[in-house]
Amino acid sequence: FYDILIVGAGHAGAQAAIALRQQKFEGSIALIGNEKYPPYERPPLSKEYLAGEKEFERIMLRPESFWGERNIDLLTGCRVAKVDPDERKVTLANDDEVKFGKLIWATGGSPRMLDCAGSQARNIHAVRSRADVDKIMAALPTTQNVVVVGGGYIGLEAAAVLTKLEKKVTVVESLDRVLSRVAGETLSRFYEAEHRRQGVTIELEATVEGFETNDDGMATAVKLADGRILPADMVIVGIGIIPETGPLVAAGAATGNGVDVDQHCRTSLNKIYAIGDCAAHSNRYANGAHIRLESVQNANDQAKVAALDIMGEECEYDAVPWFWSNQYDLKLQTVGISTGHDEYIVRGNPDDRHFSIVYLRDGKVIALDCVNATKDYVQGRKAVVEGLALNTVELANTDIPIKEVGL
Ligand code: FAD
Repeated sequence: FYDILIVGAGHAGAQAAIALRQQKFEGSIALIGNEKYPPYERPPLSKEYLAGEKEFERIMLRPESFWGERNIDLLTGCRVAKVDPDERKVTLANDDEVKFGKLIWATGGSPRMLDCAGSQARNIHAVRSRADVDKIMAALPTTQNVVVVGGGYIGLEAAAVLTKLEKKVTVVESLDRVLSRVAGETLSRFYEAEHRRQGVTIELEATVEGFETNDDGMATAVKLADGRILPADMVIVGIGIIPETGPLVAAGAATGNGVDVDQHCRTSLNKIYAIGDCAAHSNRYANGAHIRLESVQNANDQAKVAALDIMGEECEYDAVPWFWSNQYDLKLQTVGISTGHDEYIVRGNPDDRHFSIVYLRDGKVIALDCVNATKDYVQGRKAVVEGLALNTVELANTDIPIKEVGL
């Protein structure tokens, strides 16, 4: 029996355990994760870790001894298969049962993979876990041609690293621009041009139909729907995740695109919380829409809300979304959610590799994408949080710092 049982030892689960101890929670805590490693940072997996610039020890969320010192039982290599909300117990994949006082569901998501001819080939990889990336790294010495399926942040980050490692990289994107789900067109075109300049081939409006495979069960080429064949000795798939909600769905939790939670991160099941990538919540920065956010910010902030709620403190999730992405020497920082903007202002010249895009809706600032422009990111945050109707002529003038732009 544990007073608090946390399922998923990723960013959100680990942070929930840390926050509970910071709040002086004295009951027992277990952190159960199905990976065999202690909690680690996921963002470097498509950046410094893949590049070989950071060892695993440097991306661990805490030193291995931390968990024991804080009296947090870390159970790695354990998958929770079933949740019984009435009996307040979970069943592990090995049939062991663990009882709980309260449960925090923090299972993230599993990478969406392709389902087509040849898609089971051994050299088709996801980029979600250390195990995925270790497999990619082990195969790099014998890899020349990499096809990255999906032009989202993870695919583009992987493309940037692999290009630097002198692989021949092609990004295949089914829509007409990269980053279409998360950014406005100006930013998409900027990153598309940058990748091309760096030697990446980008195929837009290109759909994968299947893979050619050899007798070793390895893909040798990607077949596109228009008949073209792209030779590949490695394929990386970055087309999003499917939230890991199975056991909670089976237990009767309200779910849709993820596990539905309220502003306290409580699910519809008594004494069960959900946080991080798997939790769908109403977000005021998305105009109140019920969304899942896949970011370290959201994982950490929801973890803190759940911990405070458990401690009986008044706290509602209302954090401003922020995110970053590193590609080549470009440091992108975003704040807010640009979806639904009806106007945007470009501050600075993208050709200078130092600019920001300010997104507005109904005249109010809702988000910024800042490329090598940390000052705009820091100063623009307040405008997003307060939904300020900033003067758009002044906003476009980089001589005026954002904090001095008038209404
Ligand atoms: P996760 O970190 O995925 O943790 C969930 C854990 O639960 C996993 O270890 C999983 O194995 C485990 N689990 C699942 N099911 C079960 C089960 N039934 N029983 C036990 N354990 C289970 N965000 C940013 O803000 N900036 C970035 O630059 C950025 N880059 C990224 C790059 C990559 C390659 C990836 C994959 C993600 C990146 N993200 C980034 C997103 C960020 O890492 C996630 O939003 C964050 O990890 C979410 O935390 P989480 O705890 O909800 O899920």
